[in-house]
Amino acid sequence: MAENCGFKGCNQIGSHRHEEHVAEPPILNTILDHIGNTPLVRINKIAKSEGLQCELLAKCEFFNAGGSVKDRIGKRMIEEAEKDGRLKPGCTIIEPTSGNTGIGLALAAAVKGYRTIITLPEKMSQEKVDVLKALGAEIVRTPTEAAWDAPESHIGVAKRLNAEIPDSVILDQYSNPYNPVTHYDHTAEEIYRSCDGQIDMLVAGAGTGGAITGIARKLKALCPNIIVVGVDPHGSILAQPESLNTSTEGYKVEGIGYDFIPEALDRTLIDRWIKSEDKESFTMARRLIREEGILCGGSSGTAVAAAVKAAKELGPGKRCVVLLPDSVRNYMTKFLNDGWMQENGFTDQAMASEKESKHL
Ligand code: PMP
Repeated sequence: MAENCGFKGCNQIGSHRHEEHVAEPPILNTILDHIGNTPLVRINKIAKSEGLQCELLAKCEFFNAGGSVKDRIGKRMIEEAEKDGRLKPGCTIIEPTSGNTGIGLALAAAVKGYRTIITLPEKMSQEKVDVLKALGAEIVRTPTEAAWDAPESHIGVAKRLNAEIPDSVILDQYSNPYNPVTHYDHTAEEIYRSCDGQIDMLVAGAGTGGAITGIARKLKALCPNIIVVGVDPHGSILAQPESLNTSTEGYKVEGIGYDFIPEALDRTLIDRWIKSEDKESFTMARRLIREEGILCGGSSGTAVAAAVKAAKELGPGKRCVVLLPDSVRNYMTKFLNDGWMQENGFTDQAMASEKESKHL
Protein backbone atom coordinates (compact mmCIF):
# COMPACT_ATOMS: atom_id res chain seq x y z
CA MET A 1 0.00 0.00 0.00
CA ALA A 2 1.75 3.13 -1.15
CA GLU A 3 0.79 6.45 0.36
CA ASN A 4 2.81 9.64 0.60
CA CYS A 5 3.00 10.03 4.35
CA GLY A 6 5.38 12.96 4.75
CA PHE A 7 8.02 11.07 6.71
CA LYS A 8 11.67 11.90 6.16
CA GLY A 9 13.20 10.07 3.21
CA CYS A 10 9.82 9.59 1.55
CA ASN A 11 10.67 11.69 -1.49
CA GLN A 12 14.06 10.07 -1.94
CA ILE A 13 13.13 6.40 -1.77
CA GLY A 14 9.50 6.66 -2.86
CA SER A 15 6.54 6.23 -0.49
CA HIS A 16 6.93 3.96 2.49
CA ARG A 17 5.09 0.68 2.68
CA HIS A 18 2.19 1.18 5.07
CA GLU A 19 0.30 -1.55 6.90
CA GLU A 20 -3.42 -1.94 7.48
CA HIS A 21 -4.11 -2.03 11.22
CA VAL A 22 -5.90 -5.24 12.26
CA ALA A 23 -6.87 -6.63 15.69
CA GLU A 24 -4.86 -9.72 16.71
CA PRO A 25 -6.28 -13.20 15.95
CA PRO A 26 -7.09 -15.66 18.82
CA ILE A 27 -4.12 -18.01 18.20
CA LEU A 28 -0.80 -16.34 17.52
CA ASN A 29 1.83 -17.89 15.24
CA THR A 30 4.71 -16.53 17.31
CA ILE A 31 5.08 -14.15 20.24
CA LEU A 32 5.87 -11.40 17.70
CA ASP A 33 2.15 -11.34 16.92
CA HIS A 34 1.61 -10.05 20.46
CA ILE A 35 3.14 -6.69 19.65
CA GLY A 36 0.67 -3.82 19.36
CA ASN A 37 -3.01 -3.58 20.34
CA THR A 38 -1.98 -2.50 23.85
CA PRO A 39 -4.64 -1.32 26.31
CA LEU A 40 -5.63 2.31 26.89
CA VAL A 41 -6.33 2.61 30.63
CA ARG A 42 -8.03 5.42 32.56
CA ILE A 43 -5.87 7.02 35.28
CA ASN A 44 -8.42 7.66 38.02
CA LYS A 45 -7.02 8.56 41.43
CA ILE A 46 -4.02 10.57 40.25
CA ALA A 47 -6.15 12.63 37.85
CA LYS A 48 -8.62 13.35 40.66
CA SER A 49 -6.06 14.22 43.32
CA GLU A 50 -4.19 16.48 40.85
CA GLY A 51 -7.43 18.33 40.20
CA LEU A 52 -7.80 17.43 36.51
CA GLN A 53 -11.20 18.04 34.98
CA CYS A 54 -10.44 16.09 31.80
CA GLU A 55 -10.03 12.34 31.36
CA LEU A 56 -6.43 11.06 31.60
CA LEU A 57 -5.78 7.90 29.57
CA ALA A 58 -2.58 5.83 29.58
CA LYS A 59 -1.43 3.82 26.56
CA CYS A 60 0.24 0.90 28.34
CA GLU A 61 3.07 -0.14 26.01
CA PHE A 62 4.64 -2.46 28.58
CA PHE A 63 2.06 -5.08 27.55
CA ASN A 64 3.99 -5.64 24.30
CA ALA A 65 5.73 -9.05 24.14
CA GLY A 66 9.19 -7.76 25.09
CA GLY A 67 7.89 -5.26 27.63
CA SER A 68 8.14 -1.92 25.81
CA VAL A 69 6.97 0.40 23.04
CA LYS A 70 10.21 -0.40 21.20
CA ASP A 71 9.09 -3.97 20.38
CA ARG A 72 6.98 -2.37 17.68
CA ILE A 73 9.97 -0.88 15.88
CA GLY A 74 12.27 -3.86 16.56
CA LYS A 75 9.89 -6.15 14.67
CA ARG A 76 9.01 -3.62 11.96
CA MET A 77 12.57 -2.51 11.16
CA ILE A 78 13.65 -6.17 10.84
CA GLU A 79 10.70 -7.11 8.63
CA GLU A 80 11.12 -4.07 6.36
CA ALA A 81 14.87 -4.80 6.00
CA GLU A 82 14.00 -8.40 5.07
CA LYS A 83 11.58 -7.12 2.40
CA ASP A 84 14.26 -4.78 1.03
CA GLY A 85 16.85 -7.60 0.96
CA ARG A 86 19.16 -5.74 3.37
CA LEU A 87 18.69 -8.45 5.99
CA LYS A 88 19.16 -12.10 4.99
CA PRO A 89 19.65 -15.37 6.91
CA GLY A 90 23.15 -15.35 8.45
CA CYS A 91 23.27 -11.56 8.89
CA THR A 92 24.21 -9.94 12.21
CA ILE A 93 22.05 -7.10 13.57
CA ILE A 94 23.99 -4.38 15.42
CA GLU A 95 22.14 -1.56 17.19
CA PRO A 96 23.06 1.29 19.54
CA THR A 97 20.21 1.64 22.06
CA SER A 98 19.23 2.60 25.59
CA GLY A 99 18.07 -1.01 25.91
CA ASN A 100 14.45 -1.34 24.91
CA THR A 101 15.06 -1.22 21.15
CA GLY A 102 17.75 -3.80 21.78
CA ILE A 103 15.24 -6.02 23.58
CA GLY A 104 12.69 -5.54 20.76
CA LEU A 105 15.29 -6.42 18.13
CA ALA A 106 16.72 -9.34 20.14
CA LEU A 107 13.21 -10.73 20.67
CA ALA A 108 12.47 -10.68 16.93
CA ALA A 109 16.00 -11.96 16.20
CA ALA A 110 15.55 -14.87 18.67
CA VAL A 111 12.36 -15.91 16.86
CA LYS A 112 13.82 -15.39 13.38
CA GLY A 113 17.37 -16.65 14.05
CA TYR A 114 19.65 -13.62 13.61
CA ARG A 115 22.79 -12.87 15.65
CA THR A 116 22.38 -9.58 17.56
CA ILE A 117 24.98 -7.23 19.04
CA ILE A 118 23.74 -4.37 21.23
CA THR A 119 25.87 -1.35 22.19
CA LEU A 120 24.52 0.12 25.41
CA PRO A 121 25.63 3.07 27.60
CA GLU A 122 26.75 2.08 31.14
CA LYS A 123 23.88 4.09 32.65
CA MET A 124 21.26 1.57 31.50
CA SER A 125 19.97 -0.95 34.02
CA GLN A 126 21.35 -4.44 34.71
CA GLU A 127 17.80 -5.73 34.30
CA LYS A 128 17.87 -4.71 30.60
CA VAL A 129 21.29 -6.36 30.19
CA ASP A 130 20.06 -9.62 31.73
CA VAL A 131 16.98 -9.73 29.48
CA LEU A 132 19.13 -8.97 26.42
CA LYS A 133 21.58 -11.76 27.35
CA ALA A 134 18.75 -14.21 27.96
CA LEU A 135 17.45 -13.41 24.45
CA GLY A 136 20.90 -14.32 23.11
CA ALA A 137 22.15 -10.80 22.36
CA GLU A 138 25.84 -9.94 22.74
CA ILE A 139 26.34 -6.70 24.66
CA VAL A 140 29.03 -4.01 24.52
CA ARG A 141 28.82 -1.37 27.29
CA THR A 142 29.94 2.17 26.41
CA PRO A 143 30.67 5.26 28.57
CA THR A 144 27.49 7.21 29.34
CA GLU A 145 29.30 10.56 29.15
CA ALA A 146 30.65 9.98 25.60
CA ALA A 147 29.21 12.50 23.12
CA TRP A 148 26.97 10.85 20.53
CA ASP A 149 29.54 11.43 17.73
CA ALA A 150 32.58 10.22 19.74
CA PRO A 151 34.12 6.92 18.57
CA GLU A 152 33.63 5.39 22.05
CA SER A 153 29.88 6.24 22.28
CA HIS A 154 27.25 3.53 21.78
CA ILE A 155 26.68 4.93 18.26
CA GLY A 156 30.43 5.15 17.49
CA VAL A 157 31.12 1.59 18.68
CA ALA A 158 28.17 0.21 16.67
CA LYS A 159 29.58 1.87 13.52
CA ARG A 160 33.03 0.39 14.14
CA LEU A 161 31.61 -3.12 14.67
CA ASN A 162 29.50 -2.70 11.53
CA ALA A 163 32.68 -1.95 9.52
CA GLU A 164 34.50 -4.94 11.06
CA ILE A 165 31.81 -7.66 10.96
CA PRO A 166 30.89 -9.07 7.54
CA ASP A 167 27.16 -9.19 6.68
CA SER A 168 26.27 -6.97 9.61
CA VAL A 169 23.51 -4.36 9.47
CA ILE A 170 22.65 -1.36 11.64
CA LEU A 171 18.90 -0.82 11.24
CA ASP A 172 19.43 2.56 12.98
CA GLN A 173 16.38 3.58 14.97
CA TYR A 174 17.61 7.19 14.90
CA SER A 175 17.11 7.57 11.15
CA ASN A 176 15.07 4.52 10.07
CA PRO A 177 11.75 5.86 8.66
CA TYR A 178 9.96 2.72 9.91
CA ASN A 179 10.55 3.88 13.49
CA PRO A 180 7.98 6.71 13.21
CA VAL A 181 6.02 4.97 10.44
CA THR A 182 5.13 2.00 12.66
CA HIS A 183 3.63 4.37 15.27
CA TYR A 184 1.76 6.19 12.48
CA ASP A 185 0.35 2.92 11.15
CA HIS A 186 -0.48 1.25 14.46
CA THR A 187 0.04 3.05 17.80
CA ALA A 188 -1.82 6.17 16.64
CA GLU A 189 -4.50 4.15 14.89
CA GLU A 190 -5.11 2.12 18.08
CA ILE A 191 -5.40 5.30 20.19
CA TYR A 192 -7.75 6.89 17.64
CA ARG A 193 -10.02 3.82 17.55
CA SER A 194 -10.04 3.34 21.35
CA CYS A 195 -11.08 6.99 21.74
CA ASP A 196 -13.68 6.90 18.94
CA GLY A 197 -11.77 9.79 17.41
CA GLN A 198 -12.04 12.14 20.39
CA ILE A 199 -8.55 13.08 21.62
CA ASP A 200 -7.67 16.60 22.73
CA MET A 201 -4.07 16.20 23.91
CA LEU A 202 -1.19 13.75 23.46
CA VAL A 203 1.73 13.71 25.92
CA ALA A 204 4.87 11.62 25.35
CA GLY A 205 8.58 11.67 26.11
CA ALA A 206 11.12 11.61 23.29
CA GLY A 207 14.25 9.52 22.90
CA THR A 208 14.68 8.88 19.19
CA GLY A 209 11.37 10.75 18.91
CA GLY A 210 9.93 8.00 16.73
CA ALA A 211 6.91 7.35 18.93
CA ILE A 212 5.80 10.96 19.42
CA THR A 213 6.50 11.82 15.75
CA GLY A 214 4.58 8.90 14.26
CA ILE A 215 1.63 9.18 16.65
CA ALA A 216 1.44 12.98 16.35
CA ARG A 217 1.59 12.94 12.54
CA LYS A 218 -1.37 10.56 12.25
CA LEU A 219 -3.44 12.10 15.06
CA LYS A 220 -2.87 15.65 13.77
CA ALA A 221 -4.22 14.53 10.39
CA LEU A 222 -7.28 12.94 12.03
CA CYS A 223 -7.90 15.42 14.91
CA PRO A 224 -6.53 18.78 13.68
CA ASN A 225 -7.12 20.54 17.03
CA ILE A 226 -5.09 18.08 19.10
CA ILE A 227 -2.32 19.59 21.28
CA VAL A 228 0.92 17.57 21.20
CA VAL A 229 3.16 17.94 24.25
CA GLY A 230 6.73 16.60 24.18
CA VAL A 231 8.56 15.81 27.42
CA ASP A 232 12.33 16.17 27.69
CA PRO A 233 14.55 15.77 30.78
CA HIS A 234 16.71 18.62 32.08
CA GLY A 235 20.15 17.72 30.71
CA SER A 236 18.81 16.86 27.21
CA ILE A 237 18.56 19.26 24.26
CA LEU A 238 15.49 18.01 22.39
CA ALA A 239 13.06 20.65 23.70
CA GLN A 240 12.20 23.88 21.91
CA PRO A 241 12.67 26.80 22.32
CA GLU A 242 16.39 26.27 23.01
CA SER A 243 16.11 28.54 26.08
CA LEU A 244 14.36 25.64 27.89
CA ASN A 245 17.52 23.53 27.70
CA THR A 246 19.47 25.16 30.49
CA SER A 247 21.26 22.14 32.01
CA THR A 248 23.97 19.79 30.73
CA GLU A 249 23.88 17.65 33.90
CA GLY A 250 23.26 13.91 33.58
CA TYR A 251 19.94 12.42 34.70
CA LYS A 252 18.80 8.97 35.82
CA VAL A 253 15.60 8.40 33.82
CA GLU A 254 16.39 5.97 30.99
CA GLY A 255 15.27 6.04 27.37
CA ILE A 256 14.43 9.72 26.89
CA GLY A 257 16.52 12.76 25.98
CA TYR A 258 19.66 13.13 23.85
CA ASP A 259 22.62 15.40 23.13
CA PHE A 260 21.70 15.52 19.40
CA ILE A 261 18.44 15.77 17.42
CA PRO A 262 17.63 12.37 15.90
CA GLU A 263 16.22 12.37 12.36
CA ALA A 264 13.27 10.30 13.58
CA LEU A 265 12.08 13.27 15.65
CA ASP A 266 10.07 15.88 13.72
CA ARG A 267 9.87 18.78 16.15
CA THR A 268 7.49 20.72 13.89
CA LEU A 269 4.75 18.35 15.12
CA ILE A 270 5.25 19.24 18.80
CA ASP A 271 3.17 22.20 19.98
CA ARG A 272 4.82 22.54 23.38
CA TRP A 273 7.70 21.02 25.35
CA ILE A 274 7.84 20.42 29.10
CA LYS A 275 11.20 19.82 30.79
CA SER A 276 11.26 17.09 33.47
CA GLU A 277 13.17 16.28 36.65
CA ASP A 278 14.25 12.85 37.89
CA LYS A 279 12.56 13.18 41.28
CA GLU A 280 9.09 13.98 39.95
CA SER A 281 9.49 11.21 37.33
CA PHE A 282 10.32 8.45 39.82
CA THR A 283 7.82 9.71 42.40
CA MET A 284 5.07 9.66 39.76
CA ALA A 285 6.10 6.19 38.52
CA ARG A 286 5.82 4.94 42.13
CA ARG A 287 2.39 6.61 42.41
CA LEU A 288 1.21 4.95 39.19
CA ILE A 289 2.17 1.60 40.71
CA ARG A 290 0.81 2.30 44.22
CA GLU A 291 -2.39 4.17 43.34
CA GLU A 292 -3.35 2.81 39.92
CA GLY A 293 -1.68 -0.64 39.94
CA ILE A 294 0.13 0.28 36.71
CA LEU A 295 3.53 -1.46 36.79
CA CYS A 296 5.34 1.03 34.56
CA GLY A 297 8.93 2.29 34.18
CA GLY A 298 10.56 5.63 35.04
CA SER A 299 9.93 7.44 31.74
CA SER A 300 6.21 6.65 32.18
CA GLY A 301 6.38 8.62 35.42
CA THR A 302 8.05 11.45 33.50
CA ALA A 303 5.26 11.50 30.92
CA VAL A 304 2.43 11.37 33.47
CA ALA A 305 4.04 14.07 35.67
CA ALA A 306 4.12 16.33 32.58
CA ALA A 307 0.61 15.29 31.52
CA VAL A 308 -0.94 16.34 34.84
CA LYS A 309 0.64 19.79 34.35
CA ALA A 310 -0.33 20.17 30.68
CA ALA A 311 -3.85 18.74 31.01
CA LYS A 312 -4.87 21.27 33.67
CA GLU A 313 -5.97 23.52 30.80
CA LEU A 314 -8.46 20.92 29.49
CA GLY A 315 -12.04 21.16 30.74
CA PRO A 316 -14.65 18.47 31.48
CA GLY A 317 -15.36 16.07 28.61
CA LYS A 318 -11.86 16.54 27.13
CA ARG A 319 -9.27 13.77 26.82
CA CYS A 320 -5.53 13.62 27.35
CA VAL A 321 -3.65 10.49 26.19
CA VAL A 322 -0.22 9.78 27.67
CA LEU A 323 2.25 7.14 26.45
CA LEU A 324 3.73 4.72 29.04
CA PRO A 325 6.79 3.27 27.23
CA ASP A 326 8.03 0.42 29.44
CA SER A 327 7.63 -1.69 32.55
CA VAL A 328 9.00 -1.69 36.09
CA ARG A 329 10.69 -5.01 35.18
CA ASN A 330 13.58 -2.94 33.79
CA TYR A 331 14.09 -1.10 37.11
CA MET A 332 13.62 -3.63 39.91
CA THR A 333 16.97 -2.68 41.49
CA LYS A 334 16.51 1.02 40.69
CA PHE A 335 13.44 3.19 41.42
CA LEU A 336 11.38 0.23 42.66
CA ASN A 337 13.89 -0.20 45.47
CA ASP A 338 13.34 2.07 48.51
CA GLY A 339 17.10 2.15 49.28
CA TRP A 340 17.92 3.31 45.73
CA MET A 341 15.29 6.06 45.94
CA GLN A 342 16.75 7.25 49.26
CA GLU A 343 20.42 7.04 48.15
CA ASN A 344 19.60 9.20 45.14
CA GLY A 345 17.67 11.76 47.16
CA PHE A 346 14.35 10.97 45.49
CA THR A 347 12.52 10.16 48.76
CA ASP A 348 11.48 12.95 51.09
CA GLN A 349 12.88 12.39 54.60
CA ALA A 350 9.38 12.72 56.04
CA MET A 351 8.04 10.01 53.70
CA ALA A 352 10.97 7.71 54.47
CA SER A 353 10.60 7.98 58.26
CA GLU A 354 6.84 7.50 58.02
CA LYS A 355 7.48 4.24 56.13
CA GLU A 356 10.06 3.12 58.69
CA SER A 357 7.72 3.79 61.60
CA LYS A 358 5.00 1.67 59.96
CA HIS A 359 7.37 -1.29 60.19
CA LEU A 360 7.78 -0.94 63.97
N1 PMP B 1 10.97 5.56 27.36
C1 PMP B 1 11.78 4.49 27.34
C2 PMP B 1 11.95 3.68 28.59
C3 PMP B 1 12.46 4.14 26.16
O1 PMP B 1 13.29 3.07 26.14
C4 PMP B 1 12.29 4.94 25.01
C5 PMP B 1 13.06 4.60 23.75
N2 PMP B 1 14.39 5.07 23.79
C6 PMP B 1 11.45 6.06 25.07
C7 PMP B 1 10.79 6.33 26.28
C8 PMP B 1 11.28 7.04 23.92
O2 PMP B 1 10.78 6.45 22.75
P1 PMP B 1 11.22 7.03 21.34
O3 PMP B 1 12.61 6.53 21.06
O4 PMP B 1 10.22 6.48 20.37
O5 PMP B 1 11.19 8.51 21.42
